Amino acid sequence: MASPNPPSAALLIVDVQEDFCRPNGSLALPGGRELATPINKLLASPGFKLKLAARDFHPRNHVSFASQHEGAVAFTSETTITNPENAAESITKVYHDHCVQGTPGCEIIPEIHTARLDAIINKGTDANLESYSAFGPPFRNPRVRATRLHAMLQDAGITHVFCVGLSYNVCVLHSALDAAELGYTTFVIRDVTASRLDVEGLRATREALERGGVGVVEMGSAELEFARVDR
Ligand SMILES: [Zn+2]
Repeated sequence: MASPNPPSAALLIVDVQEDFCRPNGSLALPGGRELATPINKLLASPGFKLKLAARDFHPRNHVSFASQHEGAVAFTSETTITNPENAAESITKVYHDHCVQGTPGCEIIPEIHTARLDAIINKGTDANLESYSAFGPPFRNPRVRATRLHAMLQDAGITHVFCVGLSYNVCVLHSALDAAELGYTTFVIRDVTASRLDVEGLRATREALERGGVGVVEMGSAELEFARVDR
């Protein structure tokens, strides 16, 4: 897979925020905070032309919060989130309140060397729209409220996108699938992600990534040699 020319690569760090990490996160994932060590190695690498972080950046009344729906239970209840330009297109799922703008839970964890980032992409900023992907809401027909991520990658001449962060099977998965769909050669560095998945869930997520044209690699993989990551 190694190409003769080094790729023009972007690192995309997804949702490594307090609310997705122990000990205080409302949706904490095991191993989330521990990702700071490998992420900082990637941030120190000279190989990435752009180093970006995405974060959930929800208003207090976000549609994905169970608290906004009478009688709803996080992870169990469903609500319908509809494409404002196409009522036929919708997604469903509700969670505990998380990553509310201006709260500590919304902050990228302080262990990450954010001074090395070129930009932070906010997503899920519209109260009525969900956005697992750093590129924007999942609606396709038409795409609505895209973030500035795709334009930033285009402006920088990026060809390759490497995704890490939280969680493997939700926001990392959807960000990577979108990147591949938009034409970038895309990889997830699996050992720099975390999730609550069991073996079967890990397998299903890997298959979903590979079906979408995303490569699943590890920190030591040949695909990362261009980045000269300090082990
Ligand atoms: Zn969210």
